[in-house]
Amino acid sequence: MTDSVLKLAGVIGAPIAHSRSPRLHRHWLDRYGIDGHYVPLEVRQSDLTEALGMLPRLGFVGLNVTIPHKETVLRLADIVTDRAALIGAANTLIFRKDGKLHADNTDGAGFLASLRQEAPHWVPESGPAAVLGAGGAARAVISALIEAGAPEIRLANRTRTRAEGLRTEFGARITVYDWVQLGPMLEECMTVVNTTALGMTGKPDLRIPFDALSPAALVNDLVYTPLRTHFLTEAAARGCTTVDGLGMLLHQAAPGFERWFGRRPEVDAAARAAALAE
Ligand code: NAP
Repeated sequence: MTDSVLKLAGVIGAPIAHSRSPRLHRHWLDRYGIDGHYVPLEVRQSDLTEALGMLPRLGFVGLNVTIPHKETVLRLADIVTDRAALIGAANTLIFRKDGKLHADNTDGAGFLASLRQEAPHWVPESGPAAVLGAGGAARAVISALIEAGAPEIRLANRTRTRAEGLRTEFGARITVYDWVQLGPMLEECMTVVNTTALGMTGKPDLRIPFDALSPAALVNDLVYTPLRTHFLTEAAARGCTTVDGLGMLLHQAAPGFERWFGRRPEVDAAARAAALAE
């Protein structure tokens, strides 16, 4: 690694043009007057190992990682945090001065921080949580809910076997439900999280009957394009507290910024606006 004062970080993935992370980090760099850059880097699977070897030599101090590299980077890292190992993927890399590659996953912590900031009265221990979806984001959400003390996690996924796989990995606190049983699954739940891609711009809406859900429940959608999904609109009409997916995106980014640029950034309205800017 070079000793240059100008620090470089970025996000690697393919495709990467849609990423909101460069706007967010640019905002934080400007706000704190830090001499650095954060750039989107389109890296193909076949170039990943070479890129991770070369970037620290060009002055990069770390990277965010997105699809399709989040699992592969774990195998290439020298040091993997416990939470990244548990989730089975990394989203934050640090190029250490001793040449070692450090891999972490801040998605679960970002999810919890977002709910705690936007719904300060939320008590995860107060009742079962329902998680819809069993992909990469679900793994982070489930590990965070277990850490936060949710007494039971009810899990439903279109492909049931994938949910059963997570039950095997994460243990007996998880109960698997059929995707067609989403309505009854919500009975007694105090937390409901959509981790599927349904509701994203270009995808069908997530439509589930909320009749059995208590208005005291917290409902969170990980989707953030659009911010106001049909799922959240229906939950709000039921009287539930709702939280969109942008807070998680911002909070998962903050630890990387702090490690690379030396300042814990604030997650506030200005950061939200920066991430949403066109
Ligand atoms: P993933 O690993 O590809 O998983 C996708 C999930 O969506 C799977 O459970 C899949 O079910 C389900 N799904 C897709 N199409 C569906 C359909 N038509 N009907 C029912 N289920 C469907 O993706 P991921 O990384 O977990 O991401 C999932 C979502 O979370 C995306 O919208 C992503 O943008 C969002 N996310 C947000 C944040 C944030 O910071 N806010 C962070 C990470 C992810 P099958 O298993 O049956 O295919």
